[in-house]
Amino acid sequence: MSLQERDKNHIWHPLKQHQLNPDSLPIVKAKGCVLTDDKGNEYIDAISSWYTCMFGHCNEFITNKVSEQMKQLDQVMFSDFTHEPAVKLSEELIKILPENQNKIFFSENGSTSVEVGIKMALQYHFNKEEKRDTFIAFENGFHGDTFGAMAVSGLSVYNGPFEDFLMDIKRIPTPNGNNTQEILSQLKEIIAANKVAGFVYEPLVQGAAGMKIHDAAGLGEILKFCKENSILTIADEVMTGFGKTGKHFASDYIDTKPDIICLSKALTAGLMPMAITSCTQNIYDAFLSNDISKGMFHCHTYCANPLACTAAIASIELLQSEEIQKNIESIIDSHKMFDERIKNHSKVRSTRQLGVIFALDLNTEMSRYGSLRDKLLQFFMNKGVFLRPLGNTIYIQVPYVITQEQLQKVYKTIEEALEIV
Ligand SMILES: *Cc1c(COP(=O)(O)O)cnc(C)c1O
Repeated sequence: MSLQERDKNHIWHPLKQHQLNPDSLPIVKAKGCVLTDDKGNEYIDAISSWYTCMFGHCNEFITNKVSEQMKQLDQVMFSDFTHEPAVKLSEELIKILPENQNKIFFSENGSTSVEVGIKMALQYHFNKEEKRDTFIAFENGFHGDTFGAMAVSGLSVYNGPFEDFLMDIKRIPTPNGNNTQEILSQLKEIIAANKVAGFVYEPLVQGAAGMKIHDAAGLGEILKFCKENSILTIADEVMTGFGKTGKHFASDYIDTKPDIICLSKALTAGLMPMAITSCTQNIYDAFLSNDISKGMFHCHTYCANPLACTAAIASIELLQSEEIQKNIESIIDSHKMFDERIKNHSKVRSTRQLGVIFALDLNTEMSRYGSLRDKLLQFFMNKGVFLRPLGNTIYIQVPYVITQEQLQKVYKTIEEALEIV
């Protein structure tokens, strides 16, 4: 029996309607920017396996460090113990995070990093004897699939059956350069009628919504308003973190820094699952007390796993290297040239770019999981390029180590695909 057939016996895949779409493609190998299937076909991983493996798959600098660590200390509880990889990672992260960040809390995936951020915000106010129960979030945001993260997410495709069980969220539009005053008025109304604990947002780029990019100055105004009203700001940088936007973090584009930052995905360069919620000293201090129950009672078994921390330390070292910074610049320039070539194409409604994130909207309506979208996906795969359209949006988020030849193939394949839509 083939791997694909054996898969169907016992495996339940995520984001899949098995009755309509029972097949999953077996991948047997990944190296650099290339995925190889069980028949030997190769695919350029043009979305970095969901924005994770930015230094390429099986990057030897990272795998060597992790295999050394594996022989030294594999896993140990983190509630009573500490270890070098966690401490070193905290030091390295604090050096590159926005300057107001000072504490690092570990968890295991992007959703739980948001969950932790939400709990930090709620308990921060609770510990200060001021109960606040509402969050503000952007329309069409995506923050993950656990209950708190689902609540702040505004993409209802995922949340339908659970709506009745989610926290109360007040939604605001993303700033577009012309609506900042309206958003600020809306915020004033929201805080007059509610006790708002925090504002959760994807800074500058809403990933799952289709790589939608919003206005940095407008976001800065919203963050300033939140600060003035003791609303904790929680930047979900799970997708945008670690160089994607052309700076280490999207928050680096904005003067007002978030109180809390959520990190995952590229944090470990795709090697191990791990997430981090960082925060300011002020937030941490609100949990200090002689009363045990004022502490942060949230823990995951594998949090701060030494192997994952080691992968993260190696990734941060690579991110800061001259070579990778040069590659990022070069991808940004290539995207700009591609944009010039394609933005006036009759099948293209609009294009947008921030850093290495590039997206185009097709001049046609497509449902998120509809047949044209499936046809496009199949077309890309047949051409040896893994791209995963989001509705009518085709986006590119290639590993920083992609070669010019591979990148040009990605562009060319997209141009060819425009002829079949
Ligand atoms: C992927 C993603 C998450 C969820 O992360 P998981 O590791 O899949 O739980 C949260 N926020 C953003 C912005 C994401 O892109």
